[in-house]
Amino acid sequence: MLETDLIHPSKLYDSYESLNPPIYPSSVFLFSTIEELIEFVSSKEKNRFEYSRYGNPTNRNLELLIASLEKTEDAYVLSSGMSACTIPLLTFLNSGDHIVLTSDMYLKTRIFIEKTLKKFQIESTVVFPDADEILSAIKPNTKIVFTEFPTNPFYYIIDLQYLSFELKKKNILLFVDSTLASPINFNPAQYGADLVIHSLTKYFSGQNDLIAGAVAGSKELIEKIREFNGHTGGILPAEISYKIYRSAKTMALRMDYHNKTTLEIADFLSKHPKIKKVYYPLHPTHPHYELAKKYLRGGGCLLTIELKGNFESLKTFCNATKIFKIGPSFASAESLLDPPYIMSHWDVSDEERKKMNIFETTLRISIGLENKEDLIHDLNQALEKI
Ligand SMILES: *Cc1c(COP(=O)(O)O)cnc(C)c1O
Repeated sequence: MLETDLIHPSKLYDSYESLNPPIYPSSVFLFSTIEELIEFVSSKEKNRFEYSRYGNPTNRNLELLIASLEKTEDAYVLSSGMSACTIPLLTFLNSGDHIVLTSDMYLKTRIFIEKTLKKFQIESTVVFPDADEILSAIKPNTKIVFTEFPTNPFYYIIDLQYLSFELKKKNILLFVDSTLASPINFNPAQYGADLVIHSLTKYFSGQNDLIAGAVAGSKELIEKIREFNGHTGGILPAEISYKIYRSAKTMALRMDYHNKTTLEIADFLSKHPKIKKVYYPLHPTHPHYELAKKYLRGGGCLLTIELKGNFESLKTFCNATKIFKIGPSFASAESLLDPPYIMSHWDVSDEERKKMNIFETTLRISIGLENKEDLIHDLNQALEKI
């Protein structure tokens, strides 16, 4: 089971049998003879290390853990969640290819696809997160479908099983950024995703003290990404890898608390007279509740609300909370408020923001590990100030 795998992961052999894997602060791994070097360069399966940009034993332990959690053949860690999104796209796309992505998604990923990939003559089509809408956007040159599960910040759920079945017939790769679910709440590869992407900055770390990313998938895909990133160079330092390995031991426990507390808070907010709308995937009011129930083991720590009123209402509310702090990111011990209109989507035009359903009164809330009653009390007193 996941909870046990997190605490007793398989790891590389260590001659001192230490309970935790050692940190290897080494860029270089030596060869004792020229013959050993020749054997290494001529072998197809590399079973040792050479230079840390191509692999490091500390990182390898984290990769083995992630592959076991996502039930994939292999995994690879990178310098950030953004690298985990962009490097696989750069690895597999060529000029003239087409990619389908969803309208609700991490904004920076969308900007990378729509602006940066466009520079290299890679076209894209943006559709609402729905399997049929995605399939209807497929063209003869479509190479990849990129989506999130659930999507950010409205937690739409795509029928992944159906989508992956249809995409396999057409030989199109399905990349799923599953940061918002974490392997505790969902495993996209079990429903046919070719590549699972994580920002390890979020649930894996859970501490708001580092930035890292990972991809998980077949040996063949992961090897290509590893090789490409060996050239581009956005690698993860071993010291950071170990920190993630350490935090991951409590991920299932933290997630269990996040799942339970956030559902209860979503329910409380959905009944509050000052709130127009609450989005939480496992709350019955969510438009994709049925699909969420089919796929998710928990709804996670994020919920998004639409306040009644105007920008003043949002300002009053955010400034009045005491436990909740204003800041980006999620999945840490601290509860955070992220108003996308003025945080992530500040540079987006009003017209585009409207299309994305982002208004001045939209607020994404990350529920932390504080006492649930304290959190509800804080939200309630701030809502009353509006
Ligand atoms: C945070 C996040 C990213 C980017 O990850 P970083 O670790 O901040 O680079 C990508 N996708 C999703 C869904 C995220 O939440």
